[in-house]
Amino acid sequence: MKFVRFRSAERESYGIQISQDHILDVPALAQEVKQILPPSLDDLIRLGEKSLAEIAHLIDKVHEKDKNIATISLRNAKLLAPLISPPKIVCLGLNYHDHIAEQNAAVPDDLVIFMKPRTTIADPNDPIVKPAFVKKLDYEAELAIIVGKKGKDIKLEEAKHHIFGYTCLNDVSARDIQFKDKQWTRGKSFDTFAPMGPCITTTDQIGDPSNLWIRTRVNSELRQNSRTGNMVFNVYQIVRKLSQVMTLEPCDVIATGTPSGVGFAAKPEPKFLELGDVVEVEIENIGILRNCVAGAN
Ligand code: MG
Repeated sequence: MKFVRFRSAERESYGIQISQDHILDVPALAQEVKQILPPSLDDLIRLGEKSLAEIAHLIDKVHEKDKNIATISLRNAKLLAPLISPPKIVCLGLNYHDHIAEQNAAVPDDLVIFMKPRTTIADPNDPIVKPAFVKKLDYEAELAIIVGKKGKDIKLEEAKHHIFGYTCLNDVSARDIQFKDKQWTRGKSFDTFAPMGPCITTTDQIGDPSNLWIRTRVNSELRQNSRTGNMVFNVYQIVRKLSQVMTLEPCDVIATGTPSGVGFAAKPEPKFLELGDVVEVEIENIGILRNCVAGAN
């Protein structure tokens, strides 16, 4: 299933994307047929496989009439980031062989990690806000893991069962600040520097997470075009290794690094983001996360 959060008629809810243009409002459907389902997507993720099975069962058995009542056109809804307050957003640096090669760096022998605060989250189609003093704004397309089940020291063969699904995340970076500081927190932590969405694709529908294409377009120009198979550590190794450091909790977001084609490494000249640019991150079996760049008020 593909889960989305959305706002429609002044009300926030969540649902399942049932076609390119339509979503099924899960709490509205539950109310229609007088069944109790998790009231929010966060709750659904925390309850895990049990709720997924209940929802699948409900969709199977309800009448078309009830389904139609709970169906909303995306034209009448605003998509929201699938998570608004994850316990943590952990990000990997230097995790794609092609990205490491474009900056002549060495392949790390362990995870390189940093964190972004939740105030970096931006909704699909909302602006990435560029402060005037940031001169080198850059994009990074990333496959983000959404953790489904709490765990510490998770075994490699168990890792899959701790993942609820996947979404697109743009690890927006102020390169001038990132490289000046030598560590990455300030340059990657501005408000709106983690657009996320448009949906969470559950593990059963993502296909092979180690063989998905991942792309970025800026104003329709293809900038990043790679496959998740170019990762140094795959999603299961990441869950394994990260859980040796910190307890992973439901709704945690783990951004798994970016492939080659970032703006600062462009030849012959770097290509940084400018006001008005439209950035699209697209990942196979998830969708397109689109944001524009705007100035601060
Ligand atoms: Mg990154």
